[in-house]
Amino acid sequence: MKKQDLKSLSRKELKKWFQEKGYPAYRAEQIFNWIYRNGVEDFTAMKNIPAELRRELEEKAYVNSNLALEEARYAGDGTVKYLWKLEDGHFIESVYLPYPEEKRYSVCISSQVGCPMNCSFCATARGGLERNLTTGEIVDQVLGIQREISGEEYGLPGITNVVFMGMGEPLANLAAVLKAVEILNDEKGFNIGMRRITISTCGLVPEIRKLADMGLQLVLAVSLHAPNNQLRSKLMPINKKYPIEELLDAVEYYINKTGRRVSFEYILIDKVNDFPEQARELADLLQGILCHVNLIPLNPVREFAYERPADDSIDRFREILLDKGIECTVRQERGTGIEAACGQLRHLRNKG
Ligand code: SF4
Repeated sequence: MKKQDLKSLSRKELKKWFQEKGYPAYRAEQIFNWIYRNGVEDFTAMKNIPAELRRELEEKAYVNSNLALEEARYAGDGTVKYLWKLEDGHFIESVYLPYPEEKRYSVCISSQVGCPMNCSFCATARGGLERNLTTGEIVDQVLGIQREISGEEYGLPGITNVVFMGMGEPLANLAAVLKAVEILNDEKGFNIGMRRITISTCGLVPEIRKLADMGLQLVLAVSLHAPNNQLRSKLMPINKKYPIEELLDAVEYYINKTGRRVSFEYILIDKVNDFPEQARELADLLQGILCHVNLIPLNPVREFAYERPADDSIDRFREILLDKGIECTVRQERGTGIEAACGQLRHLRNKG
């Protein structure tokens, strides 16, 4: 009999699972508390659970991590990049980004092993998709980082923000991602506010609409990276399936349904999408949409021809957007020198 990964269950499902096995539901609450509030992975350490129940649980379920920490790389700015090995030998990455002055402790996590979307500037895209992550494997990245960063007391500092911008396309693994979001947001779990959870997408239109219909208050980040279809299709093949017009329709639908501002991600690549006329085109495209543009100077990947633009091109691009009334910021660069661009560590490891 395959053991149940308890971290793949929301609190509601955990209660149901306990009841089906003939245990009282409050035991599920206690276990949930041990896992997420105390970081305990071992039934024997769960002192308020009777020994007999602990033994039964050992036979039918597990809470120990699906991930083994393979490597951690530390940057001078506090950023840590983690490479995890999954049980089937695949590797995934997550990043810890602390901003202590703002009391913000963010993690950027993966939703798939590899990615099927094939964006031309992305290290994760090489090798395509291996498989989706389970909810347990998604949640385990946050638990694993929380354990790594905790001082003497587990949970301090506590992770405050979660961003699904690591490896994979989160909306292509929507069910597992949404359940992980439910666990992260659960007031008896991590208790991370919905508005502090960001899901990014390269632009899967039907899934954006599905997400909109759920009315969740999370942050939707749409990777745009180009102001027109011609360039976007070159950088992001998904654009051939869902061109910009359809994507922006879905984004407006999302905004109407949720009342939330959407974030557009725009990786600035030298002499590819950073020209002033492209900034003007982008501003015209986004006029009237409740949005914020995140300009992200490219984090170059070895072996790729793309370069990071010079600072003055980045400033010029930002100023054009601001002049035309588009809210935008340049994302602070973090983790340089530790192969922090998504997918790089895994790629190096896979090459051996
Ligand atoms: S940028 Fe994101 S969506 Fe595109 S290939 Fe990389 S991981 Fe996938």
